[in-house]
Amino acid sequence: MTTTETDAVLHLVETDEQKALREVAHSLGSRYGFEYVREKSEAGETTSELWAEAGKLGLLGVNIPEEYGGGGAGMYELALVEEELSAAGAGLLMMVVSPAINGSILSRFGTDEQKRTWLPGIASGEITAAFAITEPDAGSNSHKITTTARRSGDEWVISGQKTFISGVDQADVILVVSRLEDQKEGGLKPALFLMPTDAAGLTATHIPMEVKAPERQYQLFFDDVRLPADALVGEEDAAIAQLFAGLNPERIIASAMSVGQARYALGRAVDYARDRVVFKGAIGTHQGVAHPLAQVKIELELAKVMYQKAAALYDAGEEGAAAEAANMAKYAAGEVCARSVDQAVQTLGGNGLTVEYGVAGLLAASRLPRIAPVSREMILNFVSQHSLGLPKSY
Ligand SMILES: Cc1cc2nc3c(=O)[nH]c(=O)nc-3n(C[C@H](O)[C@H](O)[C@H](O)COP(=O)(O)OP(=O)(O)OC[C@H]3O[C@@H](n4cnc5c(N)ncnc54)[C@H](O)[C@@H]3O)c2cc1C
Repeated sequence: MTTTETDAVLHLVETDEQKALREVAHSLGSRYGFEYVREKSEAGETTSELWAEAGKLGLLGVNIPEEYGGGGAGMYELALVEEELSAAGAGLLMMVVSPAINGSILSRFGTDEQKRTWLPGIASGEITAAFAITEPDAGSNSHKITTTARRSGDEWVISGQKTFISGVDQADVILVVSRLEDQKEGGLKPALFLMPTDAAGLTATHIPMEVKAPERQYQLFFDDVRLPADALVGEEDAAIAQLFAGLNPERIIASAMSVGQARYALGRAVDYARDRVVFKGAIGTHQGVAHPLAQVKIELELAKVMYQKAAALYDAGEEGAAAEAANMAKYAAGEVCARSVDQAVQTLGGNGLTVEYGVAGLLAASRLPRIAPVSREMILNFVSQHSLGLPKSY
């Protein structure tokens, strides 16, 4: 066995610190739990107490460099925090966006001033940063985005619109993916801007969603939003690398969140299958009930190994291999999340559809990871092209 293979194998055996981190995250998530999240969603409120406490415990900033107030660990550690919160019924969607996307991009590409301004707050949770790439007329085809930045003296002027942007109501700043005015045509050559949520000319309109979650989605309109020169992240010409430095973490943390959701739903189903008796013995005695749950358990563990691999590759700086693994992890995690919630509803029978048990309420959310941040079909396109070498289809 080569050294590299040894390291890769060892990484799957979590260290005592990583196990302890899982425990801290799980116990925090359990203290709040699914009921808290549900009440917040129904009241149209955010999970600010949970977010603040996670920040104080250092959970939100585990991947941020120590010199900026973070834990100095990696995407692997952030992922296991998200998995455990989510498995306790209290996953935080804004972790996918604030520390994972924004934290990664700013840590690697931000100017010293940007790092000092934003990273300590992102690490502590006192600053929440949203991320806006999706546009109504571009959708999965980011090359078609038309949000434009032009120079005006020392300032940047941003115009355009975005859709489905999560958590704008709880965010202080939004990382906006834009084009420079002289790059309106052709492939995506993005420029990333930090736009405060109270910037003049920015309007956010809530999009009513069937997904029941405290993180709400917004349509954004940029009507000549003026930003200072230092709102541009890093260098103009490095933005494609910046964007990818954020998208792999997004996929890894979204995978971890989906694996956690799958664990949560499976736990609910198994508890019910163990206790509920209608014929002889508990319903879980019947293989028609038990086997689909066992199948979910296997698929869940496979998805988990895949996100662990993606995170380990990302933390090792293996960008290309991390991209492939992150896409595959997101696919597997999205599939098992949908399957787990579906099977939980079935296992609970009529109770699966009651408000009291709350399982059917997870159905829409369980479909989200098949769609966002990158859809199942776009992942299959990626794998066909990059992993299998087949011709690009679009
Ligand atoms: C709850 C929620 C939160 C979100 N949060 C954010 C956020 O914070 N920031 C942000 O920027 N965006 C966010 N999004 C947007 C999300 O990333 C997009 O919805 C997603 O990328 C898909 O884009 P679309 O909805 O425009 O679908 P479309 O691109 O219109 O695709 C529609 C369908 O067609 C399929 N399709 C499209 N092209 C192809 C092709 N070439 N081959 C095969 N199939 C294809 C897709 O897979 C999909 O099934 C969020 C979305 C949701 C629902």
